[in-house]
Amino acid sequence: MTMRSKLMVGNWKMNGSLVANASLVNAILDDIATVNCRAAVCVPAVFLAQLQALLAGSCIGLGAQDVSAHASGAYTGEVSADMLRDFAVRYCIVGHSERRQYHAESDALVAIKAQRALAAGITPIVCVGESLAERDAGQTEHVVKRQLAAVIHANGHCISEIVVAYEPLWAIGTGLTATPEQAQQVHAVLRAQLQAASSHADLISILYGGSMNAANAAELLAQPDVDGGLIGGAALKAPDFLSMLKTASR
Ligand code: PEP
Repeated sequence: MTMRSKLMVGNWKMNGSLVANASLVNAILDDIATVNCRAAVCVPAVFLAQLQALLAGSCIGLGAQDVSAHASGAYTGEVSADMLRDFAVRYCIVGHSERRQYHAESDALVAIKAQRALAAGITPIVCVGESLAERDAGQTEHVVKRQLAAVIHANGHCISEIVVAYEPLWAIGTGLTATPEQAQQVHAVLRAQLQAASSHADLISILYGGSMNAANAAELLAQPDVDGGLIGGAALKAPDFLSMLKTASR
């Protein structure tokens, strides 16, 4: 018996348009009545105002995909946590592997971004995960613990307010999914690390991400430490996302 209700989060990445977003969200909301898990969509920053309006009064929370490590000022192109807050953003992905990889985000930077989100009352969804080479070298635990340790170190007693997403890099956008056993094994390691840092660690949701879809969600979500999903590609199709929300509502 867990105290954690499932949390299912769509990561739209750099996809969407005003027209496409409206039809996707309206199709999801049309069939949301039987969903009782927690849900959110993390959208490109330019669409936050649109999504704030589309999701108003619904059970789907609004999320962003990144946040600046700075509070305000001369940081051209960046978006601050307070700005996200202005658009009723409840969740913000930090340290997604695509940001770590293509924007050279370090563990320390990701930790500061989590701190900025928390200070603005936004729940950071902290992504951790190993590459295939790291897994093959037996480094999986070491890598994910190092990534999470930076966030724990920088956020102290607030740590129970975060969400963690375990996303093995080799499973993101590849169609390769971690087996439920592989996911559970890493989630248990992360849970133990959180328990050592906080007496409220049992409240922290640890999501799995990496080619989760309507066909494999149930067996992943059945694992004791898999508290939900961070879903990329399959979150862009209303029937698939809805099916996963319903699976998580059981
Ligand atoms: C992601 O973007 O976080 C992700 C898990 O993508 P996908 O579901 O497409 O693998």
